This record gives sequence, structure tokens and C-alpha cells, in this order.
Amino acid sequence: MRVARFVRIRRPWRNWDITALRRNLGVYVHIPFCPAICTYCDFLKFGPKRPRGLDEASYESSLLREIEARGAWLTARLAGTGRRVDSIFIGGGTPTMLPAADLARIASELMSSFPTAGGPVEFSCEANPDTLDQEKLAAMHESGVNRLSIGIQSSNDRLLKFMGRTHRWAETVPVLEMVADGPIRNYSFDLIYGLPNQSVGTLLESGRRLLEFRPPHFSAYWLVPEPHTAYTRWAMRYPQQIPSDRDVLYQQHAVECLLRGYGHYRYEVNNYAMPGHESMHNIRYWQGGDYIGLGLGSASRLGTAVVSNPKSHIVWNTAIESIGSADDPLGQAMAELDPKASAPPADSFLQLRNRLGHELSGQSVNPRWITGGLMEIHAGRLEIRSKGLNLSEQYSLEME
Ligand code: SF4
Repeated sequence: MRVARFVRIRRPWRNWDITALRRNLGVYVHIPFCPAICTYCDFLKFGPKRPRGLDEASYESSLLREIEARGAWLTARLAGTGRRVDSIFIGGGTPTMLPAADLARIASELMSSFPTAGGPVEFSCEANPDTLDQEKLAAMHESGVNRLSIGIQSSNDRLLKFMGRTHRWAETVPVLEMVADGPIRNYSFDLIYGLPNQSVGTLLESGRRLLEFRPPHFSAYWLVPEPHTAYTRWAMRYPQQIPSDRDVLYQQHAVECLLRGYGHYRYEVNNYAMPGHESMHNIRYWQGGDYIGLGLGSASRLGTAVVSNPKSHIVWNTAIESIGSADDPLGQAMAELDPKASAPPADSFLQLRNRLGHELSGQSVNPRWITGGLMEIHAGRLEIRSKGLNLSEQYSLEME
């Protein structure tokens, strides 16, 4: 197994290239298919039961049309502006449900249709362990993917079953060995905490097992019951089984301490990384920056306008035909902008979700935030300390 180097850097977020994040654009691609539906999931996804006329082959064909048309449209708009696409994220759903050749075709089309030339591109793809193999790994790598985000969630089979996950730990281990020794050197694992009957010991055992594979990036999510999920219905029947906020905050702190021992720092509410391995696509969402969404239900942001693709595949197919026409909502949003201008900073509520925080321009800062060790002022910015990340909503209300 090759091991990522562990380097301590003071204030690593100061190295983020925010100017490039706002000047350039990201692209998000949604693949909405999953082998089964997890009990807690409220994303736009389809298990084995799908709307009539929606399958992998028809979806891919529509997606390739959208990539080609939107890529040509954006290339024309950005010509001569010095702006380009520098982050791509294929998410879902479970993108690795697609065959290797199809993943490679989508990745290659993205790289060639969008204006990516002129510098590096952070190109991420989400994967689940039971749909990832050597062939897909090689195909993605050869097509430009240089970052993997793998949904493991736990190493405990009882909890995996409770969550409705389709993998089990014994079959996950060889996949993680393959990833750790594979060609894509930047990879991230997901972990979930705040589950019913999940002790701190069980959680840390999962964390330690995953960290043995030395992921340079790690995501840890607090399981919150979302409306209309099987988990929420269960939680309403057994409310006494849901851990208290205090217990879950303790779990979160335990995960952070564990990760710190492996050279990670918490750079965003749910994300940890070794310095230099933070997801720039993720930071673009919170710090500001334009992005284009492709696929069912995907959101795009241009300037301050947010436009979402339809959630019905029938309506989406019609919308693809309108790209470049007067009926194209993204075209209308772009027409309001100076194509040469960088995106404006995100609003302070979003910027407070990561350590870099935001520039201070005359706002008063509640002294409690500073004395309480939640935030600090550094070089004209309100920067967030790790324990301040949980409270960003409250801060933004007080800032208004
Ligand atoms: S694999 Fe991910 S997208 Fe699919 S159902 Fe589970 S949580 Fe949702």
C-alpha cells in the first residue's frame, strides 16, 4: 500500500486559491441509479423500481447529449475571458453502477466538451464499494478522473444492514486495498455517525479500520432524519432510540480527534483532509463560484442565479433540446452577467461553513464568538475554528 505524506501546515486554508475558484467554474453530473435505496436517503435516485422509460442506457444517451450541447454553449460564452472549468464531480446515486466503458465515455466527453484546458482539473467520482472494480478504476483514471469519494459509512455489518447499504465489511476490505494501491491517489471515504445503537467504540472502530487505508480525505456525516425516508418513519416510531444531540456531538468530537492523529484537519462542516487534499469543488459551493449542473434535478449557479434541471426525465429531455435557445434558463441567467467577471463571494452563511470564513467589511463581530474559541479574526477575515463550524447558521443570523 502506498501512503500519502503527512505534512503539518499552519492555517492550510490560507493556501486555497479562492481567486481561481471564483474565476473558474465547476461542473456537477448526476447519475441517479442505485442498486437499492438506503433507509436514510433523500437524494434524487432510483433503485430497481424506476419510472417508465428511464434506464441506464436512455439516461446515458440523454446525458451525453446534454454534455455536448452545454459544453459547446459554455465554451462559446467563455471564449477569450480567461475563465475555464477546473473542477468536475460525478455524483449520485451510484455512478459506479454504470459499466466501465460508459463511465469512461462520460468522463472523456466531459473533459473534451467543456473548456478544461489551461491548468489542472480536480475530477471526482463517487463510488460505492460493491460496484467498484479494477476495470472501472482503470477506465476512470484513463479518462481523467483523479479523485474518488467512496460511500463506506460503517465497518459494522449490523449498522450497514440498518442503513440499507448493499455492501458488507468483509467484501469491502479487498476493494479498499485495491483503491489504496490503485492509480487514483486522491480518495475519500464517507462515515456516518449519530446512528441508533452506535456506540463511540463502534464508531471509532469503523474510523480506525478505514484510516488504515490512509485516505487523504475523509467525510463524516451526522445522520439527520430527512422527510419522507424510511429512517424517519422508523425514528418517529422509536424516538427513544435516536441519540441526543449531546451524544452525537461527542461522537463528532471523537471522530475529529481520531482523524487529527492521522494528519487530517476539519476544513468544512462534514469534511476533513490532509492539507492540500481538500475538495476544491466542495469549497466552491461554500465560498462562491459558478457551477453547471448536468443530469436529472442538478442545480447550476451563475452569479447569484440558481437554476435547476427538471426532475422528470421526460421534461429534462425536452430541456436539453432548448440549450442555446431563448428558452434556455441558464442562457437567460448568463445573459445578465459579464462573462469575464468572476463569481461574487457566496453569502456569509455559506462561507461560514468552512474554515476560511469570510472577509470582514465593516460587520461587527460578536465578542462571544472570539472569546468562546469559535472564531478568530486573522488578516481581515473572520475565520472559523473547528468547534465554530457547527454553529454557522446562528452566526449568520447574528451578522445580519
Ligand atoms: S447509495 Fe447513496 S444515493 Fe443511493 S440510496 Fe444510498 S445514500 Fe442514496
